[in-house]
Amino acid sequence: MNSENQTANRGEALDAAIAGGGLAGIATALLLAEAGLKVLLLEKKPLLGGRASSYLDARTGERVDECQHGTLRCCTYLADLLQRLGIERQIRYFDAMQFVDARGVHSEIRGSFLPPPFHTAPSFLRFRALGLADKASIGRAMVQLMRARPAEWQDRESVANWFVRTRQTERSVSCFWRPVLVSACNEEPEAISCTHAFKVFRDAFLATRTGFHFGVPAMPLASLWHEPSLHALRQHGAEVRNRATISALEVENGQICGIRMKNGELVRAAHYVSALQQDLLLRLLPAETTTDTAFWERAGGIDTVPILGVHLWFDKPIQCPPALALLERRMEWVFNRGALYGKPEDEPAFLSLVVSASRSYADKSREEIVQIALEDVQAALPEAKNAKLVRHAVVHWPRATISPCPGVDALRPGPQTPLDNLVLAGEWTRTGWPSTMEGAVRSGHAAARFLLKKLGMPAPRAVSELQRGMLAKLLLGRETDSPGE
Ligand SMILES: Cc1cc2nc3c(=O)[nH]c(=O)nc-3n(C[C@H](O)[C@H](O)[C@H](O)COP(=O)(O)OP(=O)(O)OC[C@H]3O[C@@H](n4cnc5c(N)ncnc54)[C@H](O)[C@@H]3O)c2cc1C
Repeated sequence: MNSENQTANRGEALDAAIAGGGLAGIATALLLAEAGLKVLLLEKKPLLGGRASSYLDARTGERVDECQHGTLRCCTYLADLLQRLGIERQIRYFDAMQFVDARGVHSEIRGSFLPPPFHTAPSFLRFRALGLADKASIGRAMVQLMRARPAEWQDRESVANWFVRTRQTERSVSCFWRPVLVSACNEEPEAISCTHAFKVFRDAFLATRTGFHFGVPAMPLASLWHEPSLHALRQHGAEVRNRATISALEVENGQICGIRMKNGELVRAAHYVSALQQDLLLRLLPAETTTDTAFWERAGGIDTVPILGVHLWFDKPIQCPPALALLERRMEWVFNRGALYGKPEDEPAFLSLVVSASRSYADKSREEIVQIALEDVQAALPEAKNAKLVRHAVVHWPRATISPCPGVDALRPGPQTPLDNLVLAGEWTRTGWPSTMEGAVRSGHAAARFLLKKLGMPAPRAVSELQRGMLAKLLLGRETDSPGE
């Protein structure tokens, strides 16, 4: 057994066993352990972090992210978890979002002296990728966004349809709305509900001064999450088992009676939390529990969307901002890993590219994908033409996130399940957020709050949203949301 699997609590009765050591599982386990419960976290991979993790590069032994992850300052539950783990400084936030269009013209969105929701307006007026008519159409739509209060129609209508209704120009969609929304929601505008699209723009760009600040880990994702989470969980007396694969959740009399491990062991606890992806959970539960049950059928009806990540290593340094959105290209974002990790500027470049909702790449060969990535990098960053590509890696996640499509929120369950002692977490549950790291941590809060309330114990406090200024409160309203309750 790996030393990481040594148990602190072997033999003592467990209050809660948590299946899945992604961010939802980590957050749930930490909150329950902080509240004094005896918890066990089971994760099949050698490292914690789940989809927000890294693989070991066989050649160099380095941790390389499966796919670059980014966040926004308005993701306050994620920031709270980082703080609890003592790693809040390991996310670098940038106060401007940078874009380059097909002509090589750079634009940026940044704040100004103006109060929110108008703070980014001056940079928007200077945004060189957009013409006057594009900006006027976006301005009109922004006024509607400010006025929009949560309403049922928003969950039924796609944002693409809303673009038509609000007469958005073609270029405003291709050079502004789409790049922001597709990367934030991992879906095409035709399949993003207005609820999710509005949330991104209201929370990130309108409600607060810093909500849109883009944050990127300053180290590989596995190093960000694995060791700090292990340390914090163990400090609170939690047991963590990596390389612990669950083969079934066993059910008796409407309750989970144990977690069957791949090695045959049966792990028993008073309560169980699933922090697994929905399709995995459905496979691990007995078929007789999930068939003909509206609750589980709804969960099974949630669609997933792929993401493509491409890593390129060059023989020379290449000037590139830490994070740059590529407009009107096939790759959507390029990240300069060296700059993000604080490496000297004269080191050979290591660039990571991302394509969200990458369905059209499913049938392409690795070589074709690398060629597309290289062409886009060379077009956007002229110095790249003088550098030789020495190595590459392509990571395609077929089920990276759930689709934030119209109607999806009605399918997403809260933490309560029909099984009396099974609680749900996971970014796919009803968090009010798209399928993101923030959503995963929110789901962990919701699960922990639900279980602790059920046990009659004090629940962890809700995390504050970023403070809205006077004008933003007046124009956008005060509404805030608590996770998944
Ligand atoms: C390629 C990609 C790019 C992304 N980019 C971003 C981004 O830029 N920003 C952002 O906010 N979000 C991004 N996301 C989404 C984000 O990573 C997820 O929403 C979040 O990490 C989900 O966390 P989770 O804990 O709910 O689920 P998961 O991370 O999936 O955790 C579930 C865990 O269960 C474990 N498990 C599965 N089966 C078993 C089993 N049988 N036994 C034991 N353990 C098991 C898994 O190994 C995993 O660790 C991205 C996702 C992907 C895939």
